[in-house]
Amino acid sequence: DLSGQAAVITGSSSGIGAALAEGLAANGCDIVLNGLGKPSEIEALRKRLESTYNVRALYHSANMLKPGEIADLIAFAHRELGRLDILVNNAGIQHVAKIEDFPAEKWDAILAINLSSVFHACRHAVPLMKAQGRGRIVNIASAHGLAASPYKSAYVAAKHGVIGLTKTIALETAEHGVTCNAINPGYVRTPLVESQIADTARERGMSEEEVVRDVMLHAQPTKKFVEYNQLLGALLYLVSDDGANANGTSISVEGGWLAK
Ligand code: NAD
Repeated sequence: DLSGQAAVITGSSSGIGAALAEGLAANGCDIVLNGLGKPSEIEALRKRLESTYNVRALYHSANMLKPGEIADLIAFAHRELGRLDILVNNAGIQHVAKIEDFPAEKWDAILAINLSSVFHACRHAVPLMKAQGRGRIVNIASAHGLAASPYKSAYVAAKHGVIGLTKTIALETAEHGVTCNAINPGYVRTPLVESQIADTARERGMSEEEVVRDVMLHAQPTKKFVEYNQLLGALLYLVSDDGANANGTSISVEGGWLAK
């Protein structure tokens, strides 16, 4: 039961972030949604979560490329909801290309959105959580935070960075009742992955069916995509009181990918 708690979930207008935000709301948590997208669709999501789960659901449009807007997002959550118990750093983008063709501006954007935004959000959230004597930071890294795949240089570098940043923050907050951990999903069939199927097919000269079977599900011994509720289970553990001694670590939910 997370009633009385307040959470920020970055990149929660779609995919994993939207599912995790809904899961927190379903457990009674007030939430601040964030992410890009059609304002009317985001407002519909916000209203649906608020009315379905009888929690406060707010939205802040911070662009994860802009440190000042990330600072505003954290301040907004604390001001409007009166506290900040949970920060889920989830916003992310992908680009698939050979290193020699990888556009430098894509590298910069992926590092900014997938890694630096975590730093900026944590910088502002940690003092609030320390002052409360309790807090939970959960970074959505990836199986690519611990292992590489070809054509994903920026993403793999950023996600490995997230794992390192997670460990450092954990050490700095450990005595303050604040934990910082990561969840490493394998492939989840979100809008991000749908577009990656097409991009990878082009890059590798394969059909989309071959990409799903021989690249994505080939990586996962279960041969199944990861489901949202399987990630939510890990999140609910990490934010619970029982999760107090899980710190600086990550939970991999990737069908056995990293065991190989
Ligand atoms: P998605 O594209 O469905 O959602 C990404 C979210 O991030 C959206 O809400 C989008 O609006 C937001 N976002 C993107 N750029 C932003 C910006 N500049 N400012 C603010 N918000 C921005 O993708 P997803 O698959 O749900 O991915 C969510 C996270 O999970 C990412 O960090 C991704 O790397 C990670 N992940 C995904 C998978 C997978 O298979 N889908 C696997 C491992 C890790």
